Amino acid sequence: MTTDKKPLKRIAFYGKGGIGKSTISANLTAALSERGLKVLQIGCDPKADSTMFLTREKVPTVLNVLKEKKDNIELSDFVKEGYNGVLCIEVGGPTPGIGCAGQGIIAAFQKMKELKAIEIYQPDVVIYDVLGDVVCGGFAVPLRDGYAEDVYIVSSGERMSLFAAYNISQAVHNFRNRGYAKLKGLVFNSKGGSSEDQRVREALEEIETDLVYKFPRDPIVQKCEKENLTVIEGAPDSDLANEYRRLAEIVMG
Ligand code: ADP
Ligand code: MG
Repeated sequence: MTTDKKPLKRIAFYGKGGIGKSTISANLTAALSERGLKVLQIGCDPKADSTMFLTREKVPTVLNVLKEKKDNIELSDFVKEGYNGVLCIEVGGPTPGIGCAGQGIIAAFQKMKELKAIEIYQPDVVIYDVLGDVVCGGFAVPLRDGYAEDVYIVSSGERMSLFAAYNISQAVHNFRNRGYAKLKGLVFNSKGGSSEDQRVREALEEIETDLVYKFPRDPIVQKCEKENLTVIEGAPDSDLANEYRRLAEIVMG
């Protein structure tokens, strides 16, 4: 039986590849689960590595399951449980050189809707972890049709990452009057370096958004990755774990 319980929060993280979206998403998911919330994290990057430190194994991607099983698909084929009961989905990507990643997202989201993933699992929070190097129609899907409500852009102070941040903000802006997702601000994932803060400050002005949180660069991330763990699970008493918990507080408002 399903009821129409709606998630309390539907959050999307966008940003350049390699900037730290999945690290932040997975740790946020883990931190939210510690607060007793049921979280569904949906990786929307062809890399399909968004949730791997939550599940500690590769989650079969929606697109691969679609390819292999055609129409004979069940939610349990691609929804996997991870740390502390969190739910994990990886959209996946097309075969390199054939097909288009954006189209892949569209097909995967259609399938998740058809199978009523949200209605059946009834998560309190849904987190979309989305690659934002290009925001073509496919990668913009989580911004539309009532998927994500709150958008956070992840960036360092590197120019290419701030360039992607600007493009993402434009894409969100283009949908703003249609009741779609809204830009809540920028999550600064620091890489270190002298003029980083200054460049981020300037970008915030240009994008006309606020700084939501600044994460330090911390080798504890790699240490936990070596054990296939998030920082929340692998180093629960570390400073960085507490910083992810602080972000959890902020995004829940
Ligand atoms: P994305 O999902 O944006 O492609 P990832 O989250 O996979 O990026 O991050 C890329 C790499 O950056 C990770 O493998 C991780 O080792 C590193 N990383 C991310 N955040 C931090 C941090 N705060 N401190 C140190 N390393 C980090
Ligand atoms: Mg990622």
